[in-house]
Amino acid sequence: MITLCPTTWEMASKMTNFSDWVRRKLLDDQETEHQTRKFFAECSRCGTTWSSYNSKRVPHVCGSCLNDGHDPQVKRWTELEGDV
Ligand SMILES: [Zn+2]
Repeated sequence: MITLCPTTWEMASKMTNFSDWVRRKLLDDQETEHQTRKFFAECSRCGTTWSSYNSKRVPHVCGSCLNDGHDPQVKRWTELEGDV
């Protein structure tokens, strides 16, 4: 299944749980690739915050401030799920 060179074979032979370690490494990489991005927004005027995994559900403008006749800046950013 796994082809090792003399150096890596030496390293692997010293590990008691080499197979388990390889399996975990492979699964770790997969999780990183599929890490979900979460979207955030914050209104600069009223401080309302939004967060969603769907970017369409995070507004570009603050609806309640617009209703009050203001057009405040809404700060948007994203974070990876693992950092939230
Ligand atoms: Zn607002």
